[in-house]
Amino acid sequence: ALSDDGTQSSRIMVYVRLRPISKKEKEAGSRSCIRIVNKRDVYLTEFALETDYLRLKRLRGRHFAFDAAFPENTSQQEVYDTSTAELIEGVMQGRNCSVFCYGATGAGKTHTMLGTMQSPGVMVLALKDLFAKLNQHSSGGDYIVKLSYLEVYNESVRDLLSPGRPLILREDSKQGIVAAGLSQYQAYSADEVMLLLQRGNQNRQTEPTRINETSSRSHAILQVVAEYKVQQEAGCISRVGKLSLIDLAGSERALATDQRTLRSLEGANINRSLLALSSCINALVEGKKHIPFRNSKLTQLLKDSLGGACQTAMIANISPSNICFGETQNTLHWADRAKEI
Ligand code: ADP
Ligand code: MG
Repeated sequence: ALSDDGTQSSRIMVYVRLRPISKKEKEAGSRSCIRIVNKRDVYLTEFALETDYLRLKRLRGRHFAFDAAFPENTSQQEVYDTSTAELIEGVMQGRNCSVFCYGATGAGKTHTMLGTMQSPGVMVLALKDLFAKLNQHSSGGDYIVKLSYLEVYNESVRDLLSPGRPLILREDSKQGIVAAGLSQYQAYSADEVMLLLQRGNQNRQTEPTRINETSSRSHAILQVVAEYKVQQEAGCISRVGKLSLIDLAGSERALATDQRTLRSLEGANINRSLLALSSCINALVEGKKHIPFRNSKLTQLLKDSLGGACQTAMIANISPSNICFGETQNTLHWADRAKEI
């Protein structure tokens, strides 16, 4: 965001998206512990069964306010318009911008980022918008859009568009941190992108011991680099902007403490990237000069897209069900902290 004196501040815009209650949650007899008011206030209430009266009793509640809060009936387009559309302007100005989805497994991160063919999410809507703006503002339609889609799984970086061996991160004097050998796909329209991303998503690592729980431990990052020629008074200049869209691993692992078994060691590695992201955000919140980007693969990859002159949006995804109370509470606290930047 730009402050009044024209300097760039690294404010993170923080949003909360509530998903509809699922069939499973309904069948389990759960009730909603979330209320969203005025499209920005979120009330979290915990209920307990009062045995004397067989009634529900309010245990504790808390109020949070965010830049916007999306109730369960909010469309993908509205989520995009509010959270991300402004960042496309930033990319057109030649800035690095990023959007994160944070939350527990099943809270709606992938739905928000990727969505479905019928109801595409932020990734596709952002590209649609970007192509429209490039067609409108580039000099003579002279632009290039390049996509990379990668994941950080268990602290190793993999190419989701061209799966193979883990990629090594290298410091490049011109481009900053780059994943060596990462494929770049030149895109010509948003329409072709959905299929590409869906295929990419199928390449995400799945938890081998739990077949139904897919990709909850992996962070998926879509990087979009847009380069275009723009006519200015002084002549034709070239602008490069970058957009990173990140579907983070399930945040429930961030709190796992048992590091003894291999499984949880793997979890601990996910912790490393998520925890490292949290520490970077904390350092930004506290206005520290040194931001510990080097602590994980995820934060290394995002070094040039977080803080400084970057524009960042965080979408915290939550379930309404009281079954998820603890996770929802953690997510809201985390988002509340990020808001202070
Ligand atoms: P996550 O990626 O956070 O683990 P998903 O995006 O896979 O969660 O969402 C879990 C389930 O809930 C999926 O079946 C998804 O289709 C559904 N879902 C999530 N958000 C919404 C929403 N806003 N509207 C309708 N269904 C949703
Ligand atoms: Mg997911």
